[in-house]
Amino acid sequence: MDLLLMGPPGAGKGTQGVRLAEALGIPKFATGDLLREAVRLGTPLGLKAKAVMEAGHLVSDEIILGIMREQLARPEAGRGVLFDGVVRTIPQAEGLAALLAESDRQLDRVLFLDVSDAEILDRLAKRRTLESRADDDPRAVVVRLRAYREQTAPVIAWYEQHGSVTRIAAVGTVDQVATRVRAALGMP
Ligand code: ADP
Repeated sequence: MDLLLMGPPGAGKGTQGVRLAEALGIPKFATGDLLREAVRLGTPLGLKAKAVMEAGHLVSDEIILGIMREQLARPEAGRGVLFDGVVRTIPQAEGLAALLAESDRQLDRVLFLDVSDAEILDRLAKRRTLESRADDDPRAVVVRLRAYREQTAPVIAWYEQHGSVTRIAAVGTVDQVATRVRAALGMP
């Protein structure tokens, strides 16, 4: 099963993604985590992405498509992948569809974790005190939310046109949201 998790920054994609990938027995792949790791290690990719990420902008489609190709070539990706926040622009959605089609696959489900802007600002401010992520700085948060609205929200409409999107209210406790996610997928 190939599944995509979408939603604004702070929607809880990472938290729900870990649980869901484990329950489904498929690997989770998050471009945000891979990029942060590359920055930490100072790889050529990390050096390219660091300033862009810290300012809250999206890294280029070219870089993301390269990462997608690399991840999909890994043996453990052969039976399906949980893509966590991996698609943030329409060219990336088209690129992922083309990459999956190379092995006769397509996204089986797109889940959209929906949260209000007020809740997002509140969560990111809290996360900042706990994790000290450079891009949770208030100025970078404003830029990330703008990037989300302008570039990523239209991707949800794109997926609706090309199939369907399941909207999940991502408010309440982690367990409550996890229960809704499982119900949406028909899991016990
Ligand atoms: P969030 O979802 O809260 O923005 P992530 O950890 O998923 O956090 O992503 C952190 C940053 O990594 C993004 O702000 C962006 O700079 C970069 N990034 C991650 N995924 C993508 C993507 N698919 N396209 C472009 N940039 C991305």
